[in-house]
Amino acid sequence: MAELVDLSSDTQTRPTTAMRAAIAAADVGDEQQRKDPTVTALCERVADLLGHEAAVFLPSGVMCNLVAIATHTSPGALVLVDRWAHIARAEGGGSALASGVQLETVDGDRGVFGPEAVSAAHAEPSNYWPQLGLVALEQTHNFGGGSVWPLDTFEGVVAAAHAVDVPVHVDGARLMNAVVASGVAADRWGGAVDSVWIDFTKGLGAPLGAVLAGPAAFIEEAWRFKHRFGGAMRQAGMMAAGCLHALDHHVDRLADDHANLARLRAGLVDLGLDPTPAATNILFVDPRPVGREPHELQQALLARGVRVSVATGRVRLLTHLDVDADGIERALAAFATELA
Ligand SMILES: *Cc1c(COP(=O)(O)O)cnc(C)c1O
Repeated sequence: MAELVDLSSDTQTRPTTAMRAAIAAADVGDEQQRKDPTVTALCERVADLLGHEAAVFLPSGVMCNLVAIATHTSPGALVLVDRWAHIARAEGGGSALASGVQLETVDGDRGVFGPEAVSAAHAEPSNYWPQLGLVALEQTHNFGGGSVWPLDTFEGVVAAAHAVDVPVHVDGARLMNAVVASGVAADRWGGAVDSVWIDFTKGLGAPLGAVLAGPAAFIEEAWRFKHRFGGAMRQAGMMAAGCLHALDHHVDRLADDHANLARLRAGLVDLGLDPTPAATNILFVDPRPVGREPHELQQALLARGVRVSVATGRVRLLTHLDVDADGIERALAAFATELA
């Protein structure tokens, strides 16, 4: 049987031969003592990319969010997020556990909300009202279907938060997808906010790693939480080498993933489905209007060599560097047979 077309997640990529070679050749040291030259090089590069003074290497994106929230807030603070933010829905309530914060959720439009949400969440200093301690945006928005914040809305929310002295954090797991799709540079998005991170294990295709960037004093404080949360590592340059390789070779090609997703969406529309817009590399589609249950369709597609996931009650499809245009056609053929 032909190889599986895995559209279940962009985390399913495996390191390419060239990335493995870069990993094998990495110069390493003790990361925990800040003596790993490859990690240092990666952090400097990502800080620069994202328009910040400094950055810190962490094992996962979830830990970037945990460390950033811990660094920005104190217990009891409100953290304003979209209702479907990864922080609110997919991190096991970790921010409450690690930082004792409360999430104030807002009903965004595919993850995007306006400055009025900040005003609504902000309260005058008082012993009664919990105080807004952080606004956290997600770019692109995962459960929003890879949606990209429009720049003016993004800047409007940041300005509203800063006007009331509240910092802004960006969960930029897929920020580079937004950069490629919007043509707005990474340092324009990142430099406007108080902390921002990118994940190397999504479309960038590395096996491990995420980098959190911000002002030097913020990153110094973030290091305390990195250590406390068990995210200080040893010869992590092996993994940082994969990330550096991804920056060199896997950013521009995100455009291919977006083109593949647009083709996938068009094919699904031809089959009578109504998927979310093709913003970047994530699509959600509810198959119930054409008489199929999401989990049942998922199993049927798997039997035809196409893996999809089910999230928020819908079928979820992602494109990434291990799925080419031919894989998209094979996936559409499987959908066509199932929906015939
Ligand atoms: C995947 C993801 C995370 C978590 O990243 P991990 O590297 O899997 O820990 C956080 N936020 C968003 C939006 C994500 O898609």
